[in-house]
Amino acid sequence: MSKTISHWMNNEAFAGASTATAPVTNPATGTVTGEVALATIEDARTVIDAAAEAFPAWRDTSLAKRTQILFNFRELLNARKGELAKIITSEHGKVVSDALGEVSRGQEVVEFACGIPHLLKGGFTENASTKVDVFSIRQPLGVVGVISPFNFPAMVPMWFFPIAIATGNTVVLKPSEKDPSASLWIAELWAEAGLPPGVFNVLQGDKTAVDELLTNPKVKSVSFVGSTPIAKYVYATGTAHDKRVQALGGAKNHAVILPDADLDLAADAMVNAGFGSAGERCMAISACVAVGPIADDLVAKIAERAAGIKTGDGTKDSDMGPLVTKAHRDKVASYIDAGEADGAKIVVDGRNVKADGGQDGFWLGPTLIDNVTPEMSVYTDEIFGPVLSVIRVESYDDAMDLVNSNPYGNGTAIFTNDGGAARRFQNEVQVGMVGINVPIPVPMAYYSFGGWKASLFGDSHAHGMDGVQFFTRQKAITSRWLDPSHGGIELGFPQNQ
Ligand code: NAD
Repeated sequence: MSKTISHWMNNEAFAGASTATAPVTNPATGTVTGEVALATIEDARTVIDAAAEAFPAWRDTSLAKRTQILFNFRELLNARKGELAKIITSEHGKVVSDALGEVSRGQEVVEFACGIPHLLKGGFTENASTKVDVFSIRQPLGVVGVISPFNFPAMVPMWFFPIAIATGNTVVLKPSEKDPSASLWIAELWAEAGLPPGVFNVLQGDKTAVDELLTNPKVKSVSFVGSTPIAKYVYATGTAHDKRVQALGGAKNHAVILPDADLDLAADAMVNAGFGSAGERCMAISACVAVGPIADDLVAKIAERAAGIKTGDGTKDSDMGPLVTKAHRDKVASYIDAGEADGAKIVVDGRNVKADGGQDGFWLGPTLIDNVTPEMSVYTDEIFGPVLSVIRVESYDDAMDLVNSNPYGNGTAIFTNDGGAARRFQNEVQVGMVGINVPIPVPMAYYSFGGWKASLFGDSHAHGMDGVQFFTRQKAITSRWLDPSHGGIELGFPQNQ
């Protein structure tokens, strides 16, 4: 029976006034499993108002108390993350082990946020001038909006909300309408952890909800993750309404395989990074750049491994699940058709895969395409599916030109045994996250996640110290406490004495 997936406000489900809904499907069976509420402007305002009302008390809650609640949340999440992983698989399609990995990466940000008393410490300068001390403090912004994509329904929100809450803000999360249930499970966990009503809220919906978050004066910042055109729109609209905005966009991630690389290691990495989570990761490798004479061997090794991948229902013993929706599956397949028509060689073809799952599931098997050239749409566009293109180049310099000419700059990797080449690559490449013999270089929670160029709009990356800075405003305070012996008035501009 189909369930209704509602909003969440003041630590309980909130139906809202809207009657509009969108279907949520299980991608492994193709069946509709629920209907998610789509907020009206009034629903959005009600949820934002609740977050605004909760802000003054939460802002004044001691760091000791906030930290205790964060620890409670971390313990509950750690004990019960298997439940969350199953919910993710049922709406996103990724295999359960991968969903569990996503939750664990999100949990690392919760653990980072547990150190908030240390992270929020300001500076203090005694006697900057005679009897004058200067110090800095960081204060929360107020209501902060988080807008997330379908591909990481738990991890991406967790890049932001643990730090936002720890620093004293109240949160309105707008999840993807394709897999909205994870957000409600997380909201219930916060309530169980002792978070006061109104501090963490969920607003389900589409553009209407997003636009209200971008324009409502009570919302002070927006953290967005999604495709580049929407990221650009969110950044332009949010900043035009005087909000602090970080908008992470799409990607086209290259792996450069130098002739001296360990080809087995590189082939394993290409398969993991190209086809893991059916390629629906912003850090997936979709362009494998084979340098020099190794291309034939490398393609053969990747093909052999790709052919062994079991595609099927993520709750079964599968390596790779379905794509998120039928429309997305068909769009990805159309890129394979286009590559073939453009003259590229389909080495492994996922279009007619025999999947271990429902006959109406959104299946597309691993696909390896060789002899791709930079003008083909299979290279120029972010496909966001299990499609790995091989681009053959003559030299390291050709590879670097290719990577740096690409409009995106999220992640990249180099495979080599030459430390000097790797060092040159890390220095020259115009990409935000770089792997050296590591295919998916997602930074740990205490570093910050973010790309360059069309992969990020705004100045702040996610989590790490960037996260603490994004969710706080700095104040510098200059104070003078005079000795009892003081007397007299001084009207001059303050000077250092
Ligand atoms: P999307 O841009 O379609 O949706 C993202 C969010 O924006 C969703 O919450 C959605 O409801 C909302 N949205 C969609 N259309 C909108 C519109 N016209 N106006 C206002 N809001 C709108 O992205 P998606 O398909 O859910 O996710 C996949 C994309 O996200 C890929 O491009 C991927 O690279 C990117 N992504 C990037 C990162 C990163 O860190 N850079 C991480 C994960 C995903």
